[in-house]
Amino acid sequence: MNILFDNGSQDDQLFSISPRQRRIALALSLALILFTLGVVFYAHLYLPEYAAFFPALGGWGILGDFLTAFILFNQFRASRIRPLLVLGCTYLFTGLISLFYLLTLTGLLPESGPFAPSPQTSIWFWCFWHLAFPCGILIFSWSLRHRTGPVSLERLRIDLTAGTLIVLLGAAGVFLIGTLAEPLLPPLIENGDYRKLITSGIGPLIWILNAAAFLSVLLPYKKRGAGVLQIWIIVAMLAFILGLTLSLTAGQRYTLGWYGSRVDSLIASVVVLLALITEVNKLFVRLTRQHEELEESKQALEEANKRLQQLSSADSLTRIANRRKFDEVLKQELEAPQRENDYLSLLMVDIDYFKAYNDHYGHLGGDMVLRSVASKLESEALAHFGFTARYGGEEFAVILPGHSMREAEQIAELLLESVRSLAIPHHYSDVSDQITISVGGFTMKPGDHFGANELIGKADAALYQAKAEGRARYVFAGSERPRSLSGRS
Ligand code: GH3
Ligand code: MG
Ligand code: MG
Repeated sequence: MNILFDNGSQDDQLFSISPRQRRIALALSLALILFTLGVVFYAHLYLPEYAAFFPALGGWGILGDFLTAFILFNQFRASRIRPLLVLGCTYLFTGLISLFYLLTLTGLLPESGPFAPSPQTSIWFWCFWHLAFPCGILIFSWSLRHRTGPVSLERLRIDLTAGTLIVLLGAAGVFLIGTLAEPLLPPLIENGDYRKLITSGIGPLIWILNAAAFLSVLLPYKKRGAGVLQIWIIVAMLAFILGLTLSLTAGQRYTLGWYGSRVDSLIASVVVLLALITEVNKLFVRLTRQHEELEESKQALEEANKRLQQLSSADSLTRIANRRKFDEVLKQELEAPQRENDYLSLLMVDIDYFKAYNDHYGHLGGDMVLRSVASKLESEALAHFGFTARYGGEEFAVILPGHSMREAEQIAELLLESVRSLAIPHHYSDVSDQITISVGGFTMKPGDHFGANELIGKADAALYQAKAEGRARYVFAGSERPRSLSGRS
């Protein structure tokens, strides 16, 4: 990704010039040429002295130069590509010199003292301004051609300091030459007539330098692979040289050519700035979109995670909790702070004569029974704040916190009843002609200490006993209550 030159990758549209931008740049260039052509033939036409014209336009131009420099300095800081610094320095220097020009032209510098401007001062500032910009562009083109990769971080600081110092010292030097040393310079202007600028050869020299700078950015331009900055520098340089041409042709202040040249200069100052702002905006839009996409994918990921967790803790056949989840919940219950003062029951549930059911009604029929029994047990247990899981095969486990043994026994009875209420025919059961279950239970009293395995072992032993005693019943380990028998219905 590079604002100077596209790296050629297809997916990176950010700093590569779009066909639309290329069309705008071309249209603006043509408009500039037409405007200049329209004005150049009447360049000598004398117009009223409109004193506010230059401060109004010039002010915008200087602001444009400074802002462009500011953005380019920041881009250099981020990308560490030196040509950006060179360009930033060029705009800063140009901005400063045109500021001096603005100050002297409008009489804003003090009239007396060592820095008092003479009538020649402002035209010389104009010369330096129109020399500085093409020189900067030439150095920029040279640095672009001889660019290496990004500079190191230490180098970045040195480069920034050196660049700023050179610009400030250079500008101070120009200021001193234009004011203190001005008597040494040949006079170029007389009563607003600056045709000596051409006859002295200084004007043509400036023009040639600008033409060279223009060619130095235009010639390396390739349609494919051009960066945003590259094309807008070409437009800026074109505007600059057209303005210069108008100014030199006019030869006199307050003529149509002189006014027209200010318009070209303003465009030269702001065109790069506008391109940079457009790119920053695009970057902002892209960043916002990416942020939104990131949020969306984060949400999707969270949902997928939740779903995955559900899947990993659910039994695939019956959709109730699986053995893994059961171990987790039982551990949590045993370690819960209130455990010490509360009851905790575990019921182990097993379908009676299920092998015979499978053998006669088929495995798929057996699966359906497992699903029905599972969901019945789950909803019945849930009504008493119990947790149900498939323990394995045709065995289920129900964890019942907060119930005394007597209450747990009643719930076991309800479970037996609820499965019977499903009324699934089972003509190969020795205990009923419908599907029945046996339940083994164990209740931990407050103050009891048992591990998970011990608890399961006790409930399992009770289940074994329920089977041994004839099935379709519950047995609670340590219960003194007469056992219920859900006999044949
Ligand atoms: P008991 O009354 O003593 O419990 O007799 P039983 O036949 O139910 O006992 P046993 O443990 O011998 O048989 C359990 C059967 O459960 C064996 C197996 O085929 C069946 N089984 C286990 N898992 C599944 C399953 O996912 N689907 C089906 N259809 N059957 C299963
Ligand atoms: Mg069984
Ligand atoms: Mg079994």
